[in-house]
Amino acid sequence: MAVVVTAENLTKEYNGLRAVDNISFQVLEKECFGFLGPNGAGKSSTVKMIYCLSPVTAGKLIVLGMDVKQKAREIKQKIGVVPQENNLDPDLKVSTNLIVYAGFFGLPRKEAVWQAQSLLEFFGLEDKANERIENLSGGMKRRLVIARALMNNPDLLILDEPTTGLDPQARHLVWQRLRRLKMQGVTLILTTHYMDEAYQLCDRLVIMDQGKIIEEGKPLELIAKHIGREVLELGCAKDCHQEVLTWVSFLIGGHQVVGDNLFLYPYEGQKLLAVIQKMPFEFSPLLLRPANLEDVYLKLTGRGLTFSPG
Ligand code: ADP
Repeated sequence: MAVVVTAENLTKEYNGLRAVDNISFQVLEKECFGFLGPNGAGKSSTVKMIYCLSPVTAGKLIVLGMDVKQKAREIKQKIGVVPQENNLDPDLKVSTNLIVYAGFFGLPRKEAVWQAQSLLEFFGLEDKANERIENLSGGMKRRLVIARALMNNPDLLILDEPTTGLDPQARHLVWQRLRRLKMQGVTLILTTHYMDEAYQLCDRLVIMDQGKIIEEGKPLELIAKHIGREVLELGCAKDCHQEVLTWVSFLIGGHQVVGDNLFLYPYEGQKLLAVIQKMPFEFSPLLLRPANLEDVYLKLTGRGLTFSPG
């Protein structure tokens, strides 16, 4: 499969602060590639270099076969960008936001009008074409920004935190549309601090922490490699943790302490649960659930994704 983005020893510094620290990765054609990590991990700084907004401090970055240091203008013509903020023009109505934007790419007006209409339909916004931006919900604005990013028929769509701040229903709507775009052959790059978003959308991802890539792979493979299939969460006073761990050591591949809770990684969840329930302790909570990417991040860093400082 063709390579769409290649980064080698990529570094970004802001006045001496190293936001992206010597990272290397490749994005392949037609995949959805994710940057997962807490606030401040360096995700945005990385994608801003890919979409040529922010200059590279050091290292090599090739996008669609072109070096960002030499061909920024050409690259910008071929990519779509959904920035973190909805920077729509409040003075223009919905469809005009799209049509004016297409003008920056030299799309003839007739074609832009047609393209705007078809994208508004794709994103379920056709009845909002003449609406003012201020009258759209958060989810609608987000879908409109994604529609705008597609006006130039990009080979690569880059989304910085596509669903931050949206309610669950609005997030699912965005996810559905992104999945459809991927099925149509658009290569997607996204940043997120939501492990469920990364899990739902990404074929491959890198986990970032403090400017570095700490792990990379397919979501399911990463979960299987680091955690297994399930996690048993149990709450009990800290002084009984050791006793629990000794009791079940032959049934688990690993564990993590999260506050007062123990997260156990069982070989067989039900078997572990049965043994735990025979112990002379009260456990609250006691929850057997599927393992997820948050568990992976927790294991790798000792910190939660959502609760990390940023
Ligand atoms: P993320 O997208 O993972 O939340 P960012 O790339 O936005 O992370 O930020 C990484 C680090 O770089 C943070 O410490 C942030 O404060 C810093 N940073 C980001 N943008 C700038 C900027 N324009 N000027 C100075 N520091 C910045």
